[in-house]
Amino acid sequence: MTGKPSFFYTDEFLSYDFTGMHPLKPIRLKLTYDTMKVRKIVDDYDIVEPRPATDEELSQVHTLDYINAVKQADKGIPQFTYGLGTSDNPLFPGIYHSSSMYAGASICAAEHLAQKDMAVNISGGLHHAHSAQAAGFCIFNDPALAIATLLKSNEKIAYVDIDAHHGDGVQEIFYRSNRVLTISLHESGQFLFPGTGFPEEIGEGEGKGYSVNIPFYPYTAADVYIESFLEVVPPLIEAFRPDVLVCQLGVDTNTDDPLADFRLSIRGYLKVVELIKDLHPRRVVLGGGGYDLNVVPKAWSMAMAVLVGHTVDIPFESTYATSNTGREYAEAMVKEVKRLVFPFHGL
Ligand SMILES: [Zn+2]
Repeated sequence: MTGKPSFFYTDEFLSYDFTGMHPLKPIRLKLTYDTMKVRKIVDDYDIVEPRPATDEELSQVHTLDYINAVKQADKGIPQFTYGLGTSDNPLFPGIYHSSSMYAGASICAAEHLAQKDMAVNISGGLHHAHSAQAAGFCIFNDPALAIATLLKSNEKIAYVDIDAHHGDGVQEIFYRSNRVLTISLHESGQFLFPGTGFPEEIGEGEGKGYSVNIPFYPYTAADVYIESFLEVVPPLIEAFRPDVLVCQLGVDTNTDDPLADFRLSIRGYLKVVELIKDLHPRRVVLGGGGYDLNVVPKAWSMAMAVLVGHTVDIPFESTYATSNTGREYAEAMVKEVKRLVFPFHGL
């Protein structure tokens, strides 16, 4: 494998816009790309235009009825089924086309892994979409589509999701598979949408032991987060031996994020990204949540530098934000994961 990693970008990403007061602002993607240009991080990547996903590709994960409902909404025909047209997932003109573009970029990233060691779609990471249900600002589940694409030519895929919210849609879609190991670290569903993601959700049937959840207490900072990550994620990945790692790098764990309650600094987040980089040499990298427009472009542009091996010096923060808040809770959750899941992997 040679060449620079692929980074998918098009200004068409800006058209996935729920508009008004909706917290998901697509401008964050352009701001990230622009910051990468200013910091010359783009020099380390091949910038590639994505293509939209076809209906056939979408149907690997979504039902045809649901895809058709999104298409009808795209034409301006109101749809108030399948979670569409709600305050979280309001309808907007072009909703099918722009959602297909986000999904297509993740499929392209998965396809590029045939020639590359890494490919990135920062518009991706829409992990809440279900097979026939829009949820949590997500129309099509691009992480699941990337994984489905990779499964055609790889045996085993690991999915690591560091978004502040539980990666429920991805977990659900592969809940009965032992070829996909999903690991989600998130604020506890006791306190935050979507209300799931507890250690006892370990998969079903052949998939038992291949679904892993580490919930955290509100106000958990980087030190407790990183200790818990290290206790669980590297040993499981090492035991599972995936062919490719798909990672969702939502940055709504930031202390300034308006939608969640973590207390990670940008530096703390980047440390987690570095740990993810060290998990596996072959990676599909996706975006995710992140709702503070001052944080997302900084954090993601620097994450792109970290992922190609740069050490990032961050002048505006001198230390990790540290605190013991949530330590006991995190230790209890890690213990539960080890008890419930580790035996399936010989650990
Ligand atoms: Zn989120």
